[in-house]
Amino acid sequence: MAQQPITLIGGGLVGALLALQLAQRGFAVELFEKRPDPRHTGFRGGRSINLALAERGLQALRSAGLADDVLQHAVMMRGRMVHGIDGSCGLQRYGVDDSEVIWSVSRGALNVLLLDAAEAAGVTMHFGQSLVDADFERRRIRLADDAGVVREMPVGMLIGADGAGSALRAAMNAHTPLGERIESLGHGYKELEIPPAGELPSAVLQLSGGHDQFALEPNALHIWPRGGYMCIALPNTEGSFTVTLFLPAQGAAPSFATLPDAASAAAFFSEQFPGLLPLLPRFSEDYDHNPVGTLSTLYLQRWHLDGRALLVGDAAHAIVPFHGQGMNCGFEDTVVLANLLAAAPDDSAEVFAEFQRVRQPNADAIATMALENYIEMRDSVADPHYLAKRELGAL
Ligand code: FAD
Repeated sequence: MAQQPITLIGGGLVGALLALQLAQRGFAVELFEKRPDPRHTGFRGGRSINLALAERGLQALRSAGLADDVLQHAVMMRGRMVHGIDGSCGLQRYGVDDSEVIWSVSRGALNVLLLDAAEAAGVTMHFGQSLVDADFERRRIRLADDAGVVREMPVGMLIGADGAGSALRAAMNAHTPLGERIESLGHGYKELEIPPAGELPSAVLQLSGGHDQFALEPNALHIWPRGGYMCIALPNTEGSFTVTLFLPAQGAAPSFATLPDAASAAAFFSEQFPGLLPLLPRFSEDYDHNPVGTLSTLYLQRWHLDGRALLVGDAAHAIVPFHGQGMNCGFEDTVVLANLLAAAPDDSAEVFAEFQRVRQPNADAIATMALENYIEMRDSVADPHYLAKRELGAL
């Protein structure tokens, strides 16, 4: 198949999987990623340390032939383990058996696996190359390297998988307004770590309900719902858990503004999360060192500039993380787009329009569900009426 080459901006989760899917369908793909190659320098942060992989994302990985490889590095989560303030806890299963589960995966390990697979499929990759802007009339982009040296180069079909703060989206929006609206949630998040069981005193472990190298039950997504805020924890393969505290960013206590440092937050944790605090031996270092992340929903009226440029993944539809579906939705994008392009490689304008037509209703729906699920996770799951309805199969 001889098609016009594809220039892909962003080699995160969605960009790497899209590059692979396109290469598997015979496209020549050149990928530019702002960060250094994580396979040589180690994965450098951004967003959450681990993520929930669900059936939608798994289906996309299956179509690329990677599902088994990914699941080898994942921990199964059978349901929500809800922790009351009084130390009680109970598992709310996602399904009747292990055919309906989700998986906790490391963002860094998954990104590396996808980059390896894309490169093996023939994708040309450039790291430490940040898109600065794009000239859509001349079909050229400008890239800055790590030293800030800017170069210009011609592009083929331009696709942006450069995340929620997409530079390609900014360039497209400057050329033709995309109808962009960003709604901040007003809540932020901070990550903390429960280490493997071997690093915790046995007196603490006797109370926490874990086993093997895990300080908590490993096969669950843990939630400490507290009404207006919550903590969650997802397991990592080596026995640790990544804990995320979600809290209002500003305003009356408790908020990140009223709990600016570990000293103030420790008293809050011992009052609101008494069972969790003893599992966080590096609480002070983590709290003071790890940044407060922001959470927003991105709505766009247009995802593409005729057949010249298209946005996918978070660059097109970033959502809040409470349904654990941002990456999963972006993974679905990659299969739909690769199939549409393979069917009509010479008609990118039609393909991009069809891609938006097919995917935008899904993205809008999951954006709404993700916002609703924040209320459910931090509040309703601990409500006895909710539990009664769930027992009856109503939720
Ligand atoms: P990103 O992962 O942001 O990747 C964008 C890439 O583009 C990065 O590698 C970046 O370095 C690169 N880039 C940026 N700018 C440029 C530039 N100018 N030039 C070149 N490259 C550039 N989703 C789930 O499905 N399940 C979950 O459990 C889940 N949990 C989450 C928890 C939190 C706290 C957060 C914040 C998000 C969570 N998400 C989850 C959402 C998920 O992280 C995103 O949907 C996913 O990362 C989107 O992938 P992406 O490749 O589109 O964007």
